[in-house]
Amino acid sequence: MFIFDLQLANYRNYARASVRLDRGLNLFVGDNAQGKSNLLEAIYLLSTLRSSRASSDADLVRRDILHTEFPVARLSCEVERSAGNLHLDLAIVGRTTDASHRAGKRVRVNGVARRASEAVGQLAAVLFTTLDIEIVAGPPLLRRRYLDMMISQVDRGYLRAMQRYARVLQQRNSLLKRIQAREASSAELGFWDQELAHAGGVIMQARGEALGHLALQAQLQMERLSDGLESISLTYKPALGGLDAEDCPIDETEWSARMQRALAGLRQREIGAGATLAGPHRDDVTVEINGMPADSFASRAQQRTAALSMRLAEASYLRRALGDDPVVLLDDVLSELDARRRKGVLEFFDTFQQTIVTTADPDRVRDMMTRATGRFVVAGGTLTRFEGE
Ligand code: ATP
Ligand code: MG
Repeated sequence: MFIFDLQLANYRNYARASVRLDRGLNLFVGDNAQGKSNLLEAIYLLSTLRSSRASSDADLVRRDILHTEFPVARLSCEVERSAGNLHLDLAIVGRTTDASHRAGKRVRVNGVARRASEAVGQLAAVLFTTLDIEIVAGPPLLRRRYLDMMISQVDRGYLRAMQRYARVLQQRNSLLKRIQAREASSAELGFWDQELAHAGGVIMQARGEALGHLALQAQLQMERLSDGLESISLTYKPALGGLDAEDCPIDETEWSARMQRALAGLRQREIGAGATLAGPHRDDVTVEINGMPADSFASRAQQRTAALSMRLAEASYLRRALGDDPVVLLDDVLSELDARRRKGVLEFFDTFQQTIVTTADPDRVRDMMTRATGRFVVAGGTLTRFEGE
């Protein structure tokens, strides 16, 4: 798929911007703090309805209008897809001025108001940023998010299970606290165990399956980018309270059963802790480079290449699951790569319908200027197309 039209209003540092995009490589050049990352964040937001970096919806609304009567950011795009063309509208209400209204996001798909869970992934995208190294070097939360953002774009059932899981987890944790305080009986846990294990089974099954494809692809990409010198191995580590997770169960029912057993085995510890100690909210994916744990042994450059390989694997996962190409977004990541890796990345994306790249340093990526089908300048929240050098 590819985006051919994008409009932003009162979003971040964009008062109003509109741009026609091309198939192929679109290059956005701009100095620091002009709106490059904001632009790619906007596209990713239209895809996932979750910001890649904002902590609240209010951050997304242009600051100058946040305290006016109508503090709303609007994003929309037109997309050509093999599943039929798409028009997406997203309104983000930064602050409520009227008690009868809600702050938050509203989305329309081809003109019809939809729930977030139905709109996520209508536009599929993969985003590369300079912070990606944290997927390899950072805490497990970031690897879970890596899986979640990817799988929920292609699997609506996954997103629903995630939402249900979060609700049940919260209720189960507060019950555990009440049992600990002797305000409730542990007999009440049975129902919540079952609910949690049911949603958890769906999530673990999907994660295990995605990892199968990702591990293989990441390994291929890592080999390719390093001329066969480095290898990466990704392993799913479901949090099942120390139960043997080596042989992955084959279906949701089996995952659910394992999770129920894990919860039963942890009962006393959970009551003591007042918290749920097993389940997908504590999962991890281990990353090894050349057979050693990547976070504590690998060099920065190895970690960076590993993170890049994981993003390339994500693009390949989305393409396979959708039967269509996701839009590829690269936020200033190419200038930090050496020429060989940059070439490796661009060659891979030549096979995708659309790649949107930002850079603050066009001199370092001269080779791309000639490849680009569309070139634009980002300056102070404006977008302008330019021809020539
Ligand atoms: P760099 O090259 O440093 O990465 P960039 O072009 O990617 O720069 P952005 O991260 O897109 O820059 O930010 C551009 C500007 O937008 C920043 O000056 C930032 O302060 C501003 N900005 C962010 N959020 C808002 C907002 N809600 N309202 C107004 N301006 C904002
Ligand atoms: Mg930036």
